Amino acid sequence: MRLICPHCGYHANTRTSTKMSPLTGHAYYACSNVDCGHTFKAAFEIVGTISPSAMPNPAIVLPFCKGVGKNHKTMSKSIPLKESA
Ligand SMILES: [Zn+2]
Repeated sequence: MRLICPHCGYHANTRTSTKMSPLTGHAYYACSNVDCGHTFKAAFEIVGTISPSAMPNPAIVLPFCKGVGKNHKTMSKSIPLKESA
């Protein structure tokens, strides 16, 4: 998953990620702007199901949520996820 660098606004690419649980993890990013050079860590969490799995794991319980739909734009100026402690 690409994020926007919070300092310069360029795309930042994932360098590596670590899984904390089946639903959470951390990802390490590097800004693609060579003049910026920011590297940072972000937290991610799977928060809902849009379309159910054909191979459901009974241990995974997620609420259903709406998808973005084809008429919605993707977040080109997304705000990076906050890291919890
Ligand atoms: Zn940057």
